[in-house]
Amino acid sequence: MQKEVNIIGAGLAGCEAAYLLANNGVKVNLFEVKSLMKNDIQKTNDLGELVCSNTLRSKSKKNAAGILKNEMKLLNSLVLKAALENEIPGDDALSVDRFGFSKYITGKIKNHKNINLIEQEVSEIDYTKVTIIASGPLTTDKLGKNIELMTGNEKLFFLDASAPIITKDSIDFNKVYWASRHNDAKDGQYICMPLNEEQFNAFVEELKNAETIKLKSFEKEIYFKGCQPIEQIAKTSKKVLLNGPLSPNNLIDENGNTPFAVVQLRQDDAIDSLYNFVGFQTNIKWPEQKRILQTLPGLENLNIVRFGVMHKNYYINSPKLLNRSLQVKRNKNIFFAGQITGVEGYIESASSGILTAINVLAYLNNIKIEQPSRKSMLGALNFYITNPKHDKLKPMKCNLGILDQQNKNAKSEFYSFDESEREIRRFIKGINNFAKIGESNE
Ligand SMILES: Cc1cc2nc3c(=O)[nH]c(=O)nc-3n(C[C@H](O)[C@H](O)[C@H](O)COP(=O)(O)OP(=O)(O)OC[C@H]3O[C@@H](n4cnc5c(N)ncnc54)[C@H](O)[C@@H]3O)c2cc1C
Repeated sequence: MQKEVNIIGAGLAGCEAAYLLANNGVKVNLFEVKSLMKNDIQKTNDLGELVCSNTLRSKSKKNAAGILKNEMKLLNSLVLKAALENEIPGDDALSVDRFGFSKYITGKIKNHKNINLIEQEVSEIDYTKVTIIASGPLTTDKLGKNIELMTGNEKLFFLDASAPIITKDSIDFNKVYWASRHNDAKDGQYICMPLNEEQFNAFVEELKNAETIKLKSFEKEIYFKGCQPIEQIAKTSKKVLLNGPLSPNNLIDENGNTPFAVVQLRQDDAIDSLYNFVGFQTNIKWPEQKRILQTLPGLENLNIVRFGVMHKNYYINSPKLLNRSLQVKRNKNIFFAGQITGVEGYIESASSGILTAINVLAYLNNIKIEQPSRKSMLGALNFYITNPKHDKLKPMKCNLGILDQQNKNAKSEFYSFDESEREIRRFIKGINNFAKIGESNE
């Protein structure tokens, strides 16, 4: 009889998990609520939607995100295929046309003979069925309550925000210039808005005094590091702004001048009509967002198609709840994947879906597997979020610091990349008696 798995949530993690299991002959019932009920940041009915930035971060072999993406490629990631098929200019970042990206994933899922997409909200967990919960940081309230029952009311959260997107035709190109993300490359793909010291100080004052959407008292200050709203950074330190989202880097303009500060815009869609603000996550009220951004040179007539918003991100206390197979310790049929496990970011969530699916496949076949080790980014993230020493888990993005690689002084600058690739190849070899990776039965 064909093996069967329920997956709740067709986001990045849920789609990756469904794709891997279906390619291995498992019948997947993939539940998704968004066509009936969208959360505040979802815009389309397509699956695997990118809710904020349109990049899957650095492509560099020396960067943690580049290393993780290489591991995903070795593991036949659907999300990575979708990104490469829909890549748009983004300098060293893998930037994608967000609409094409989600359409690619939706097509692969809907046309797979082993995947049954069921458009409904799951509010109760069926413990009799092997199930992956991949309902993400904005899990619906009903399901959230059900998860709390299972976890003994222990659910954690942090605050995250998204950045505004504007139309290209509303930018005055007489006042801006093109450069790359970090320097003045002639073929630069980022739009730069230069600010002198006076303009920078005035802009910071606007951010500091901006009216924001009120947070409930218990929500205050629990931001995810690296995703702080711009107005919050402005209140903390000008220096952080100048070393972060408003950094002038080496962004020399056409006249050979380095501005005091620079705001950058990144292409957002394949037809090159939309641009998003780099590092400008915000919780400022919408009319205020428009008014303040209009003070930037070249944006006097800007047309915002998506405002920045802030959201509560839920996740579970994985070290307490899950074993290293991402399986609930007390309910062996139930697995978790994606951002809800405490990993943070698009690629971290997607890769977690792959690892959970492999573990589910092992469980269905009654096979015990060794998890990828911390020589790989996937193994290091898994180790981090399930490590019982982390009493109260804080969400984790991929980074070189969590890797366990002995020879850190090795000569090759690609040492971590090579080590991680070797580790993932070893892992794939170890599971090839029951899991097919890199092939599909679509
Ligand atoms: C405001 C905000 C901004 C973010 N910005 C970025 C960013 O710029 N870069 C980045 O790398 N990461 C960002 N993230 C973090 C994170 O990487 C993404 O949220 C990512 O989409 C997580 O993938 P996932 O598959 O775990 O969850 P999701 O992609 O959210 O997928 C979960 C799916 O489950 C569905 N669902 C929920 N409840 C139910 C239910 N009861 N029944 C059926 N279906 C259900 C949802 O509709 C959704 O489609 C952001 C998160 C938020 C909230």
